[in-house]
Amino acid sequence: MATNRTFTMLKPDSVEKGYIGAILEKINAAGFRIAAIKMTQMTDADARAFYAVHSARPFFGELVEFMTSGPIVAAILEKENAVEDFRVLIGATNPADAAEGTIRKLYASSMGENAVHGSDSDENAAIEGAFHFSGREIF
Ligand code: ATP
Ligand code: MG
Repeated sequence: MATNRTFTMLKPDSVEKGYIGAILEKINAAGFRIAAIKMTQMTDADARAFYAVHSARPFFGELVEFMTSGPIVAAILEKENAVEDFRVLIGATNPADAAEGTIRKLYASSMGENAVHGSDSDENAAIEGAFHFSGREIF
């Protein structure tokens, strides 16, 4: 059953380049309500656990190194059909393939440094939100 919630991270490249405000504005304009938000930095162990599904992939080391390289903004977003609609808003994993107007088209520079994370299922949205937020940080 749809939870109407998804989880996002503005990745270290977005924070480093000063895009937090612009990306949050796009998220708000697309009709998402922010249910939880924080700036944090993942440790090596955090990133390995968060991206465990990709641990066998050749880019895993690079992914962990990048995601721990600086602070991120983690958030839980609420909207009808949140997971699917947010994936549309962020665009394809590779910004070269991302549609015009999507967050990755506007703010990502490469497949690795692709500006934002978006959950790929309701189940993972719940797991990922709980990874970063306690119950009393979610509104
Ligand atoms: P995310 O999970 O971050 O929202 P995604 O769901 O679009 O991205 P995944 O397949 O889950 O893409 O990959 C997770 C992340 O790993 C990507 O966002 C990207 O930063 C990195 N990644 C994926 N494929 C590659 C690759 N071939 N080379 C380098 N990095 C990659
Ligand atoms: Mg993914």
